Amino acid sequence: MKRILLLGATGSIGTQTLDVISQHPDLFELVGVCAGNQSASLKKIVEDFPTIKVVGIAKEDDTEFACDQVYRGSDNMIQCIQNCDYDLLVNAVVGFRGLEPTLASLKKGKDVCLANKESLVAGGVLVRKMLQETHTHLYPIDSEHSAIFQCLQAGKHDEIKRLIITASGGSFRDKSRDQLNTVTVKEALSHPNWNMGKRITIDSATMVNKGFEVIEAHFLFDLPYDKISTVLHAQSLIHSMVEFQDQAIIAQLGSADMRMPIQYAMCYPDRPILHEQHPLDMTETLTLDFKKMDYERFPMLKLAYEVGRKEGNLGACFNGADEQAVLLFLEEKISFTQIEESIQKAVEACEYIKDPNLADLKETDRKARQFVRKYWGLEI
Ligand code: MG
Repeated sequence: MKRILLLGATGSIGTQTLDVISQHPDLFELVGVCAGNQSASLKKIVEDFPTIKVVGIAKEDDTEFACDQVYRGSDNMIQCIQNCDYDLLVNAVVGFRGLEPTLASLKKGKDVCLANKESLVAGGVLVRKMLQETHTHLYPIDSEHSAIFQCLQAGKHDEIKRLIITASGGSFRDKSRDQLNTVTVKEALSHPNWNMGKRITIDSATMVNKGFEVIEAHFLFDLPYDKISTVLHAQSLIHSMVEFQDQAIIAQLGSADMRMPIQYAMCYPDRPILHEQHPLDMTETLTLDFKKMDYERFPMLKLAYEVGRKEGNLGACFNGADEQAVLLFLEEKISFTQIEESIQKAVEACEYIKDPNLADLKETDRKARQFVRKYWGLEI
């Protein structure tokens, strides 16, 4: 029986994690939950899971929760990690704010199931150090990385030729760069294959998300960037692949449902029964299409490789600029292509720190957001 602390409980991954936990009352006990500002949804979760003892919420309102301890305010996740008795942390927070909880849990000696890719994009250097010091583990929840993690069971680390991360191409994959100038927020938010949160849907359309995933893969699987490749695969049926040095390519297929990767991360190396509404039926699957990645069409992916290779604090800048730019796009203050411009300029202007600490990364994140707002003449 694993005791679970879940961060980001009311979001898309959080909700699906709750479903996985509900399906396995013999394997999991949910002991703590945290959320940002959805206090009504969080209250409902606490009512549905009487095993919850500790609750954290960023929003400081007077919602009451039926549990032993409630932590409110910006420090709530760290408070919960420090004061909750749990075995496994599921970090389903969106954004840079997910980094510190990842570090805090590893420091406490508790493994992390990671859906918060920013922990690695912005803070990979610190997370790597912490993993080495504490001999803890990260289990990937991101579908591509879960796929790779599963494929890697087929061979040894030194036999890997390369990872092949698949990319659907996002909402605008059939549009040329010229056509991108006039796209709307609504169009950007309709992803062809996956139903996800707003930020990641926009990040998929700019291919920033795939760039994040390349950096994530580098840290998760301890491989150099020239062994991490990407390919366009419109159907998102193959979630990713690993090619070994004997030329065997192992792929993992599945439906567009995050519960499988969530459960695999939480149960590794076991594979208990999982009930899914629409499991993949090969006979209904028409085709698997692949296309070579186009770095001119998707410059953010190219930039991610550069940022990843230089390491230091550049990932924190890349992510901070993106978080801010996506927000401005959703508020219709900048256009879709100006998201890319924001990130490019912010990374160019970033003061490079080779060996950053957490304070340096927080400052880099703050400065990147400030830079983007200033760049578009907005209030700081
Ligand atoms: Mg993904």
